[in-house]
Parts: sequence; C-alpha cells; structure tokens
Amino acid sequence: MAEYPNVQLHIAGEWRDADGGRRIDVLNPANEEVVGTVAHASIKDLDAALDAAERGFAKWRKVAPYDRSKVMRKAGDLLRSRADAIARLMTLEQGKPLDQAKMEVLAGADIIDWFAEEARRTYGQVIPARGEGIYQLAIKEPIGPVAAFTPWNFPINQVVRKLSAALAAGCSIIVKAPEETPASPAELIKCFLDAGIPGDVIGLVYGVPSEISSYLIAHPTIRKVTFTGSTPIGKMLAGMAGQHMKRVTMELGGHAPAMIFDDADVELAAKTLAMAKFRNAGQVCVSPTRFLVQEKVYDQFVTSFTAHAKTIKVGDGLAEGTTMGPMANERRVPVMETLIADARSKGAEITTGGNRIGNKGYFFEPTVITGATTDMRAMNEEPFGPVALMRSFKTLDEVVTEANRLPFGLASYAFTTSGKTAQQLAAGVEVGMMTINHLGLALPEVPFGGVRDSGYGTEGGSEAIDAYLNVKFVSQFGL
Ligand code: NAD
Repeated sequence: MAEYPNVQLHIAGEWRDADGGRRIDVLNPANEEVVGTVAHASIKDLDAALDAAERGFAKWRKVAPYDRSKVMRKAGDLLRSRADAIARLMTLEQGKPLDQAKMEVLAGADIIDWFAEEARRTYGQVIPARGEGIYQLAIKEPIGPVAAFTPWNFPINQVVRKLSAALAAGCSIIVKAPEETPASPAELIKCFLDAGIPGDVIGLVYGVPSEISSYLIAHPTIRKVTFTGSTPIGKMLAGMAGQHMKRVTMELGGHAPAMIFDDADVELAAKTLAMAKFRNAGQVCVSPTRFLVQEKVYDQFVTSFTAHAKTIKVGDGLAEGTTMGPMANERRVPVMETLIADARSKGAEITTGGNRIGNKGYFFEPTVITGATTDMRAMNEEPFGPVALMRSFKTLDEVVTEANRLPFGLASYAFTTSGKTAQQLAAGVEVGMMTINHLGLALPEVPFGGVRDSGYGTEGGSEAIDAYLNVKFVSQFGL
C-alpha cells in the first residue's frame, strides 16, 4: 500500500502547514477510511500566497518563453517518471481504477509538453499602418496572477490544463485544489518546482472553497479566474469576477447527447459509448448521458449497450481487474438513488443496475434506463454518475431539438455513416464539442470547452493560452 501523505500548502516556495494548524480528513471512497489529511488555509495563508504570486509574476513574466518552455518540459518528464506512485495516490483518494489514474497522469505530462511548445508561439502582430514611418504592434503579455479552482473528478487533469497554460503565458498562479483529492495535484505541483519553476510562481491551497474563492477573486492581485465545476457555482464565481472586472474561463456541467442513427455501425456505437459512459463512474463533464437512438435500431442499441454495461467490473480501484471504481464521495450516492427512483416513478425501466453496491464504499451499479422521457429529473439534471438514459427518435430535426432542449452545451456524440447527417448535426447542435463515430475529445491540441450554461473559454488548443494573455497595442513613429 502506498503511503498517503499529510498534504501541505505550498506558499512562497515552502511546503507548510496551515496557519493555526487546521487539517481536513481525506477519505478513501472505496472503504470510507481516513487515508490522510490536508492542510486547511486561513486568510493569513491566502495573504501570504497572494504576496508570493505578486512577486512570482514579476519574476516569471521576465523569463523568456524559450526558457519557460525548457523548464516546463522538464516538469513533464518528471511527472512521467513518477506516474506509478502518483497514480496510486490518486486511486486512494479518488477511487478510479489504477490504470485509468496512470493514464490521467501520463496525459498530464502530454498536456505540459504541448503548452511548453505553445509558450514559444505567443506571437503578436505587426499591423500595416496608414502613414509612412509608423509601426503598429499588437503585443501579447501575460495577464497576471491567476486564481484556479479545480474539482475532484480528474485531480491532475483539471489542474494541469490551467497550470500549464498560465505558466506558458508567463503568469503566476494560485491553485485551490480539491480537498477530497489533494495529494495527486500536490505531487503534480512538486514536479514543476523540482523542474526549477521559482517557488513563488505557483501557490497551492485547500480549505473552504467559498471562503477561498470569495477572498481571492475580490483581491486586486488576482487578474484572472479559472474554474471547473458545477454550473450554479460557476455562475456565482463568474458574477463575482464580473464585479471585480477579472477575466474568466468557466468549464461547467454538461448533459451530453449521444445520437445514434439507423445507418450507424450500432455495435461500434454501443461499445464505444459504454466505455465513455462508465469511465470514472460517469463523473465526467463530457460523459454521454442522453442516448438518443433512431427507432429502427433502438432495441439493438439498448441490448448491446446493456450487455457492455454488464461486463463492467465494479470494485476497489487498486484491485486487479477493476474497470469501474466507487463514486468519489458520499453525496453522489443519494443523488443517483433519487434520480433513478424519480425515473422509475415516471415509467422508466431499468435494463441493468439501479442500486448501490454494498454498504461500505460509494459503489454504484452501472445503470441503463430505458423509455426516458423529458419530464424525468435525470433527463434535465446532470447525473454525474454511472447512469445512461435511452430514448428513441424518428427524424434528424427531432433529435437536434432534443439535443438543444437543455441549457447545457458542452460535449455531444454522434454515430452515422451519412456525411450529410454528420454535417447537419455539426451545424445544428449548440455545443462546444462534437465527436462523430469515435471518441475524439480532450487532446491538448484541440479546443475543450462549452457554450451556454456549460461555460465559456477553452482549455485546449492554441486559444487556451490566449485566455492568459492580454493584447497591448503600441504605435511607434519616427524611430
Ligand atoms: P459542487 O457544486 O458543490 O462543487 C463542484 C466543485 O466546485 C468542487 O470541486 C467544489 O470544491 C467547488 N466549489 C464549490 N463551491 C465553491 C465555491 N464557492 N468556490 C470555489 N469552488 C467551489 O458539487 P459537487 O458535489 O462537488 O459535484 C457535483 C456537481 O459538480 C456535479 O453534478 C457536476 O455538475 C459538477 N462537477 C463538474 C465537474 C466538471 O468537470 N465540469 C467536476 C466536478 C463536479
């Protein structure tokens, strides 16, 4: 068994306990036992982190992008070399199967590498002038110290995207990482510090999320706010950021439609989508949730998808052969039970699953609900758990209307062999991302983000670094 650390704050280049020594317990969701503790920051700690971020920004912005890039790549290599140990910590605190935790760590290294390269390409522009001897320049500059708030479902991925983009741009950053899963993001940050990033460029704090966000967002030192989490909290934080005129990136909830057409390879669709649905026990913002299946292939798809769901082996993420771990925290279990009971009471049938497993650990059965109707709560609220809802449709217009019915607009999936259908879906569905006939989301080099209630901004692709840059216009004459 890996030894789980008592996780500390990182402030001004020092790993330290919180002022006043307060700590929060960290639980293993597979057995509900306390595996360790995490330091709980006070306002004094936040003030120290803010002072450091100010100093760190003054230093880091002057480091040439070429040198930032080199040190970031070193951090990526360190993360890769420590992947086994960090993955173990992640499974202990978050529950996901060990191989999936390791994949997340390695994908994190990939993200660091990509942003390290992008750091060297924060090009501005020279704009043709109207008069001779005038030079008009648009220069990209780092926006300033960043406050980042990240959730527990992907403890490394959610931090590494924000951290890498901010550092590549030349910003300093204070990360408020999740209290439920603190050790793996702390190890990620150690990789950056061990690689040579100055200690006051990256702060790491934990505590009461609302206290920390209201203090940091309002503070004049912070120039940019980035948050991943639920839509209601995102709206609240964006409102606060608006009051203080801070730039914002919001990656919020989703309720992804997966649209399967009569002409699709139905077996491929069922296999691919079952894998996507139950990954991380469905606690994924881009998880397919509403399975909208054209009438002729509805029964075939439901049968095949259910068969795949039944092959999933639920268990402790550290146990050999586990393909789905527990839900990450206790509060997710009653949410699943309530949504399923509500769907049942409105006429839904369950082809597999529907129940909590055992009474120790937050395990829940992979669940398939058929005959889903739009009055069911689960068809309107993000389940954020291992629940798939099946509903049939007749026409393309009908499925586009259903896909757009909810205010969310994050991910969407489609399976069809018709180029025309694919084009019409890509044009008609109001989302930030669509992937057709395969799973193609979330690579570092492609945009990742939502529209409408799913937030704004992107955490992937070249646009992701722009979110941490200001444009300064300089016009020179007679030089
Ligand atoms: P929640 O809304 O209480 O919290 C979501 C995240 O936001 C957590 O990491 C939490 O620490 C943080 N948070 C909460 N209040 C905050 C505040 N005032 N300031 C700063 N951060 C704050 O929900 P939860 O029970 O942790 O998770 C359930 C819901 O959250 C899900 O239904 C899902 O919609 C959403 N969620 C989304 C993602 C995602 O990847 N987009 C990840 C985790 C949770």
